[in-house]
Amino acid sequence: MIVRTLAAALLIGLSTAAHAQQNQTEEMERREKVLAQLPNNAAKRIFGTVPGPANLEARAIGSFAKGCIAGATALPIDGETWQVMRLSRNRNWGHPDLIGLLEKLARRAPKEAGWPGLLVGDISQPRGGPMLTGHASHQIGLDADLWLTPMPGRRLSRDERENMSATNIVRPDWMDVEPSHYSAKHLALIRLAAREKAVTRIFVNPAIKVALCRDAGADRGWLSKVRPMWGHNYHFHIRIACPAGEASCVDQPLPQDEDGCGSELKDWLKKQYAAMHKPKPQGNGQGKPKPPPKPWTLDDLPDECRQVAVSK
Ligand SMILES: [Zn+2]
Repeated sequence: MIVRTLAAALLIGLSTAAHAQQNQTEEMERREKVLAQLPNNAAKRIFGTVPGPANLEARAIGSFAKGCIAGATALPIDGETWQVMRLSRNRNWGHPDLIGLLEKLARRAPKEAGWPGLLVGDISQPRGGPMLTGHASHQIGLDADLWLTPMPGRRLSRDERENMSATNIVRPDWMDVEPSHYSAKHLALIRLAAREKAVTRIFVNPAIKVALCRDAGADRGWLSKVRPMWGHNYHFHIRIACPAGEASCVDQPLPQDEDGCGSELKDWLKKQYAAMHKPKPQGNGQGKPKPPPKPWTLDDLPDECRQVAVSK
């Protein structure tokens, strides 16, 4: 039953969330499979294999799910209060504004949220752009995934960072959090991030938003930035606004000014429940699967991404 539920979940777009948990072997296999099917000029191949950043002035180009980044910097893999996970993916790159914000959040988390430190998941590739595996967004260096597992009080080995699993804090029925895995510190950390002015959106599973709505108390303004989204039960996702003065960056309007704990959240829970209980498609000869969409080339991305792609 669990396998079946998971299979259904994967079919409806939770694959990105599951992907966040994949260990190094699973990730490599998936990556090779995608590469084998992509034409040479595919944007995913170009941006997914380039080892380092474009040595240009820092600039986010395009939109969160269609763009690239010039002059990205890497979050150091170790800080006093953070550790970068899944190092082989080389996705700890971002806009300097985002990297600065993550470092600041990591520094404040222990004292202000009782959270010992951040385990940092995917940020962006060295030049952003579409990825070979996982994530529709994370393309312009302004999105970052943070694990819902507190940082342990020791340095993790490279091997642990590749293969250790994060904690799923959602209850098996996907309607609320799992009390043995969720604590007030999760709320405190997400609230600390949401109160940062630059942060415009935080994505969490609808079941997590249920808990945040219940436990937030009287001060609820920050909740409007916390949006329900598929997956996001092992990690949460932080998005910051386009940096000031970067005309090439396409921003999103801020979420409307309410806590989002009413009908929108109920609809999400219903939608998620229905997706989990959708019967598995039977048989295999009935109706051919839709051919996959044509992979993007550089022509599909903003013009400036061509320079980012070829820059030394
Ligand atoms: Zn994410």
